[in-house]
Amino acid sequence: MLTEVLKHIEQRDRFLLTSHARPDGDAVGSALACGQILRALGKEADVVLHDGVPRIYQPLPFADRVQRADRVNGDYEAVIILECDSVQRTRLEGLENRFLISIDHHVSGRPFADVNWIDPTAVATAEMVYRLAREAGAKISPEIATCLYTAVVADTGSFMFAGTNEHTFALARELVMAGADPAKCARNIYFGHSTAKMRLLGAALSNLQREGALAWISVSMEQMDRCGAREEDCEGLVNYALSIHDVEVAAFFRELPGDRYRVSLRSKGALNVAAVAEKFGGGGHACASGCSLDGPLPVAVARITAQLRTRSSVQ
Ligand code: 5GP
Repeated sequence: MLTEVLKHIEQRDRFLLTSHARPDGDAVGSALACGQILRALGKEADVVLHDGVPRIYQPLPFADRVQRADRVNGDYEAVIILECDSVQRTRLEGLENRFLISIDHHVSGRPFADVNWIDPTAVATAEMVYRLAREAGAKISPEIATCLYTAVVADTGSFMFAGTNEHTFALARELVMAGADPAKCARNIYFGHSTAKMRLLGAALSNLQREGALAWISVSMEQMDRCGAREEDCEGLVNYALSIHDVEVAAFFRELPGDRYRVSLRSKGALNVAAVAEKFGGGGHACASGCSLDGPLPVAVARITAQLRTRSSVQ
């Protein structure tokens, strides 16, 4: 399938690159790297993200060139959608009737593009983008290496999540040899948070609930306002609940307008949380998934925890 992707890249000159809304490190890093790779191959490549680049990824090379938009205009010959398992999740309009190439490592989701390169064995979409660059004969510049390394670190939880293996470290080694600076990348990811995020973490943890091997936390819109927090400040809060020693699965509930709740699910590996998210129209990976459902909060919590309990051998 990589050959197919390369064939379509070769045949075209003008590309738009995008990923899912509320982009994470793999979404941003892969899109930025892929854009640079295409330009190195003599192509035109614009990166558009519905929500722009989150604060902690703004120091990445070429992040300042990313366009934030609701709609895609322009006569692109193809759109490459990275790290995203549907057109809807880009939240971009104007993708209909365009030639779409999907590059993704998600297990959930169906092939939706004209060309679908999906490899769930890749620890991050960045790993696939690296393979694409190598196969296309593009040089991995220090800037490309920095974007890819950051994406790999972010999506593997600093090489801690299941799926991290010898190939991940081999990839990291190559990226460091190509010019990625591990300390600098880690500093941006882990020491670049806003004060608002830390205040929101405090609010979320003060709502911590436990039941056997399950733990969940939540934040209301009012708490977010009070902390001065933005949507992106919620990224990763769920991991604090998962970090408790006898917790196997954690959930984070964020209140949305219209009494809806956005849910992030995380597992240490004993339970497949992608299957739970899919039950509610979401998706993701076995150890990290997300979905949205109606409130009020106690009802949303009851529905999610009921699913977790019935699938769980971890109580
Ligand atoms: P997060 O909890 O960080 O929002 O998402 C965790 C993982 O689940 C990510 O890989 C993300 O792409 C995926 N994910 C989150 N929400 C959704 C959703 O609504 N639909 C699908 N298909 N995947 C999701």
